[in-house]
Amino acid sequence: MQVSEAIQCPFCGQVFDLTVDTSVPSQRFVTDCEVCCRPFEVRVECEPGEILSLEVASS
Ligand SMILES: [Zn+2]
Repeated sequence: MQVSEAIQCPFCGQVFDLTVDTSVPSQRFVTDCEVCCRPFEVRVECEPGEILSLEVASS
């Protein structure tokens, strides 16, 4: 089940939507900013259909 959530790039501050597969309860992955294209790590805790917490790390 996919849910989209707004995240903010730690480099340029741009906010954009990220789609998360909420069938995985705890995940971390690297995504690229849509604007400055720099990669950053996203940590997500979720339950099916709902994002409980989402953290962005710049390293
Ligand atoms: Zn950016």
